Amino acid sequence: MTYDKDNIFARIVRGEIPCHKVYEDADTLAFMDIMPQAEGHTLVVPKAAGEDIFTTPPESLAAAVHTTQRVARAIKKAFSPPGIMVAQLNGPAAGQSVFHLHFHVIPRYTCKDLGIHAADPADPAALAAHAARIRAAL
Ligand code: AMP
Repeated sequence: MTYDKDNIFARIVRGEIPCHKVYEDADTLAFMDIMPQAEGHTLVVPKAAGEDIFTTPPESLAAAVHTTQRVARAIKKAFSPPGIMVAQLNGPAAGQSVFHLHFHVIPRYTCKDLGIHAADPADPAALAAHAARIRAAL
């Protein structure tokens, strides 16, 4: 598959589509997943093009992992979940639905099942409030 420069995350990175921004630096962007699998579910993307772990430049991957750690720490502080899951899917068979590399950072709670992947759009006001909570904890 060739990289589609107009995929939804590339458009978010370019500012053509709004997002609930959590963090941004020169190389990465973090924003709320609009169909969260748990409250606080955040996505981290490198700004550089690359659809998956195979085609994203290693320096972009490194920057994204650095931001993922930063965001995971802030989510831990903001939501106090006992666990945090980091996931990164490659290819439709793995469940990837947006073909611009991204890390999912998802709070996890004991005895609470994960919500269904990319299924239930959240209330935009709740997403804005969650983004503000995470930003305040960065
Ligand atoms: P994946 O299936 O790993 O490619 O994950 C893509 C994720 O992007 C899913 O969890 C979707 O809920 C999420 N998503 C899709 N469109 C948007 C959007 N416009 N803003 C934020 N998250 C999105």
